[in-house]
Amino acid sequence: MKHCDFYENCELFSADQSIHMPKLFSMFRERYCLGGHDQCARYHVTRYAGKQYVPSFMLPTQMEWAEMIVKELKDEQANAGIRQTSSSLTTL
Ligand code: SF4
Repeated sequence: MKHCDFYENCELFSADQSIHMPKLFSMFRERYCLGGHDQCARYHVTRYAGKQYVPSFMLPTQMEWAEMIVKELKDEQANAGIRQTSSSLTTL
């Protein structure tokens, strides 16, 4: 199976906790990075919102949080689009 597209630059493995919990991070690498990256919370936020929105301390298992971040960003973008449209209409 193909490894994660973001594997080379993922900040998860540069975080301090990866040094202090090597077995846990090795498990993350095997379970998510080298296989099931579509189930990884960090992958989800990077893919659907952008790398800049991934909290540095987010773990691959925190998918519920990842979905919430993506949903809030999409809602904000939709609301900004509505505001922009309505302000364009008022200037006509
Ligand atoms: S932690 Fe997630 S985003 Fe980072 S390399 Fe692994 S699968 Fe990809």
